Amino acid sequence: MEDYKEVEDINSAGESTDKGSTGNKSGENTRSSEYEDVCFVCRRPESKAGEMFHLPNHISVCADCMRRTMETVSEFDYQGMFTPTPNGGYFGNPYMSNGINGNGNGGNGISGDGNGGNGISGDGNGDGDGRGGNGNGNGDGPDYPRFSFINLANLTGDGGIPNKQKLKRKKDKGEPILDIKNIPPPHKIREKLDEYVVGQDHAKKVISVAVYNHYKRVATGTMDDIEIEKSNMLMIGPTGCGKTYLVKTLARLLDVPLAIADATSLTEAGYIGDDIESVVSKLLAAADNDVDRAEKGIVFIDEIDKIAKKQNANARDVSGESVQQGMLKLLEGADIEVPVGASSKGAMVPLATINTRNILFICGGAFPDLEDIIKERLTKNALIGFGSTLKTAFDKEDILSKVKVEDIRKFGMIPEFIGRLPIIFTLQSLTKEMMVRILKEPKNAILKQYAKLLELDEVKLVFTDDAMDAIAEKAMEQDTGARALRSIIEEFMLDIMYEIPKDDNIGTVTITGDYIKGTGGPVIGLRGDGTPLIEEKTVE
Ligand code: ADP
Repeated sequence: MEDYKEVEDINSAGESTDKGSTGNKSGENTRSSEYEDVCFVCRRPESKAGEMFHLPNHISVCADCMRRTMETVSEFDYQGMFTPTPNGGYFGNPYMSNGINGNGNGGNGISGDGNGGNGISGDGNGDGDGRGGNGNGNGDGPDYPRFSFINLANLTGDGGIPNKQKLKRKKDKGEPILDIKNIPPPHKIREKLDEYVVGQDHAKKVISVAVYNHYKRVATGTMDDIEIEKSNMLMIGPTGCGKTYLVKTLARLLDVPLAIADATSLTEAGYIGDDIESVVSKLLAAADNDVDRAEKGIVFIDEIDKIAKKQNANARDVSGESVQQGMLKLLEGADIEVPVGASSKGAMVPLATINTRNILFICGGAFPDLEDIIKERLTKNALIGFGSTLKTAFDKEDILSKVKVEDIRKFGMIPEFIGRLPIIFTLQSLTKEMMVRILKEPKNAILKQYAKLLELDEVKLVFTDDAMDAIAEKAMEQDTGARALRSIIEEFMLDIMYEIPKDDNIGTVTITGDYIKGTGGPVIGLRGDGTPLIEEKTVE
């Protein structure tokens, strides 16, 4: 309340005694009376908001908003730039001397219109003589503590256009691990992926080469002259084997925005569901509305096998074949208008145009029963003498890795669609050994995460090999890939995380295979003279 009063005092003092106080009034008189001024902040017209302060660049601010601004400014302590003085006031530092002590900024500030002097800056002694609107209001008045002056003209952006809408917001996020402008060779990309993704050697190799080629093309712009095909990819692999994880890791390493969409929710435009262009709008959101960044991003479309052409469908296939049709131009490269900051185009939503030519599209799916189609083809070939060593049954992985475009077409993807995904590769389903490695090896492995959590309580968490085997075995039974690992661990770690913080004496917890199998408990070691296990007791 005190601040509020101070601001009012400033105004009235300025107007009453300032030499240049013809300022406001005369300024207004010269203004055309046909239009009324509108407050820059609250948008109320002069007739509603009362008399306005006129700032440079034809900005007007109503008294209410000005007062609120001043209150906010006065409450902000500028990160300790002002040190309180014994009498409770604040003195600006040398760089802030303008304004804070009531000096200066006469005509250039609040009083506006080149009439200098009056208003905020002065105290009545200000000699704001408003030369050419730059009155050097040297009013040497009483210090107005915690009060500074902002040049609002700076807030209006280039050219002083108020409320200019900007889509781009550049954020300095530091150096990416892999720089897309200077893309490292495939083996380096692969090395980085190895730190996070276990196994899937073939997939990592293919994806590293594809990404290398793609961003090299983007960086040099050769797509314009030579029209090299895009490196869009199709990943085939069972659920939970790391398809999404691989793409996520890649996007993080390259520091490019990533949008993940689920093909099952996509429908032809106009039908209930997400329309196809919404994936680009997601990407824009992931790029913080920065169009340039979004245009170099990655879109991952999961469950792509769910938009296969429906076999023998009589009704219109709005979520299958037509979605594939709808995606064609997106995959190839087109200008797409997407709403900014919303998922659907509405009357009030600004639109941005995004060119998808440099966006890398990666589609992934489990393609169940694809093996049968491949097997059928191989068998047919073998029977008529082309195929080599068939006869014996292939195991599942072997068969999948022999996939050809014609098999995917038979599965229900239209030729134009597959044609735009030139890089096709398969991922293996996870073996028990891979599961164990996933538990402990990646940089952010689940077990490492739990160990870290307990480390914060100064408790050491140990998993025996037995325990890890047991967890992997349980996960294999669920048949949902590595996804099962976390849910299994969460289940039995719950008791541990609940009980351990109760007792300050606990120093180590060893998770055993028996505990996982439900035939025993974890081994608890008490804190003490450094011997890891002093006493054994179980957590109830
Ligand atoms: P999907 O293949 O169905 O897309 P995800 O990639 O979402 O499966 O995998 C689920 C989780 O399992 C991931 O978040 C990741 O933590 C883990 N995961 C799966 N495969 C691997 C792998 N090869 N290496 C490391 N972690 C993996």
